[in-house]
Amino acid sequence: MDQPTIHPKITPIYQTSVFKFEDLDAVQQYFDEPGSSYMYSRNGNPNSDELAGAVNRWEGGAGAVATGSGMAAIFAAMLTYCQAGDHVLCAADIYGGSAALLNLELSRLGISVSYVPFESLYDLAGYAQPNSKLLLCETMSNPLLRVVDLHAAAKECHRHGLKLVVDNTFSTPVLTRPLAYGADLVLHSVTKYLAGHSDVTAGAVVARTAEDAARLRQIGVVFGLTLSPMESWLAVRGMKTMRLRVAAHSENALVVAEFLAEHPAVQAVYYPGLPDHPQHALAVTQGAGRFGGMLSFRLPDDAAVVNRFMQRSERFPFAPSLAGVDSSCSHPLSTSHRALTDAQRAELGITVGLVRLSVGIEPIEDLLADLAQALD
Ligand SMILES: *Cc1c(COP(=O)(O)O)cnc(C)c1O
Repeated sequence: MDQPTIHPKITPIYQTSVFKFEDLDAVQQYFDEPGSSYMYSRNGNPNSDELAGAVNRWEGGAGAVATGSGMAAIFAAMLTYCQAGDHVLCAADIYGGSAALLNLELSRLGISVSYVPFESLYDLAGYAQPNSKLLLCETMSNPLLRVVDLHAAAKECHRHGLKLVVDNTFSTPVLTRPLAYGADLVLHSVTKYLAGHSDVTAGAVVARTAEDAARLRQIGVVFGLTLSPMESWLAVRGMKTMRLRVAAHSENALVVAEFLAEHPAVQAVYYPGLPDHPQHALAVTQGAGRFGGMLSFRLPDDAAVVNRFMQRSERFPFAPSLAGVDSSCSHPLSTSHRALTDAQRAELGITVGLVRLSVGIEPIEDLLADLAQALD
């Protein structure tokens, strides 16, 4: 009997490490016509290509690569522009893993780093060196949700001959598309809002130019940073609802931020949607009127108080990640920012009382009721 013709609506999971060729002509065609067929999943797979294509479309790039994690995405982005002897500028407010990559590993390979305080991101003269290649920053920083003016940062970078690499994990392209403001590469921990369900570890990097996209792809393949079919498929599925999820996260987080700002047990709230946030006006224009699902707040600097909040809260389990549809809380001092020096932590105000919330998409009444009972 003939094989039935199958037309799946959704791309199936091509859980295969390798693909077959009919004969020598077929393998020749694979090399002559890139994209016409597949050979080996590390080099390319329909599922990882679908994910890269989806992220690329959202970010408005010329090409993208899907990677095994957000860390692999940062590594691929750094290698796109840097080699031994080069220098990297990095925003002082940065994901702890990015700092670890630069401080502990890329330094060994002869790539040095200088950290630029938030106030100096638009005036790099005191930081750029003749061998500086790029600035790495985040659209919205962790855990204080400082918002970077990407247009101003890109202009300043290009004035010094630097590339701008933006980690857009906290904002997502639903809020902000860094390439449109002049960034050269934009990267994601797909683990977070793009996949969105706390069930995948993945990353992606998108390039503004086709040349950089080709470099990225080669780095992904040769360093073996590319993503598996199953994880790609899960991330693609998550991305189908990203626009709706990020809208719901943003709505809930604004209400939670307003609630916390009024609560007597809370000393400060960091959320770009609040009018007293230092970059509120910028966040409004650069974030399409939404502010995302992440916020931090300050309890008294007493571990017993923080522990009581964590123990009593039921809707915000202490789980040191973010961006899932279910809410969670984290503690920057003891998790993401553990590796910082005391001076760095003091400068950023990361003390024992600082708690970070990832506000999910549950009914808002449930979240407020839970926070109220946990704080009272
Ligand atoms: C989580 C995170 C990363 C690292 O991503 P992984 O998927 O955990 O490797 C990078 N940047 C930011 C802002 C993150 O939150």
